[in-house]
Amino acid sequence: MKETSKNIGIKVKSNSNSCNDPNCPFHGSLKCRGKIFTGTISSTKMQKTATVEFERQAVIPKYERYEKRRTKIKAHNPECLGAREGDIVRISECRPLSKTKNFVVIENLGREKGFKERMEALEEGKTRKKEKEEVQEEKDAGSQSKSN
Ligand SMILES: [Zn+2]
Repeated sequence: MKETSKNIGIKVKSNSNSCNDPNCPFHGSLKCRGKIFTGTISSTKMQKTATVEFERQAVIPKYERYEKRRTKIKAHNPECLGAREGDIVRISECRPLSKTKNFVVIENLGREKGFKERMEALEEGKTRKKEKEEVQEEKDAGSQSKSN
């Protein structure tokens, strides 16, 4: 058997799983360098790719206050880490793996508390908006038929 997992130069939890992904920093030949972020996975719908989201603060000089902004980053998701939607993960910059992907998941820190509720709330907000639009359309249709 091959070595279990390589030292990637960043202190992370050791993972006992193995994989055959050449773009895995532990079992493949991918090197990590550059920025490291921590965020929550919001989508794993693409193959071997995770969308990681996190909040950051931006300074508004005019008002001398801060503003919350969200960043979304696409990151390669090696199978051996088993990261799913709602997991908090650490991602490290690496060479560009595709047009939009130049980060890789290096550590799975467990589930985010209240992730399901947050996504449900988001979903509800979306459906409410749709309902409103539908109502609006119906109203428009009604007024049109009246005028005709
Ligand atoms: Zn691996």
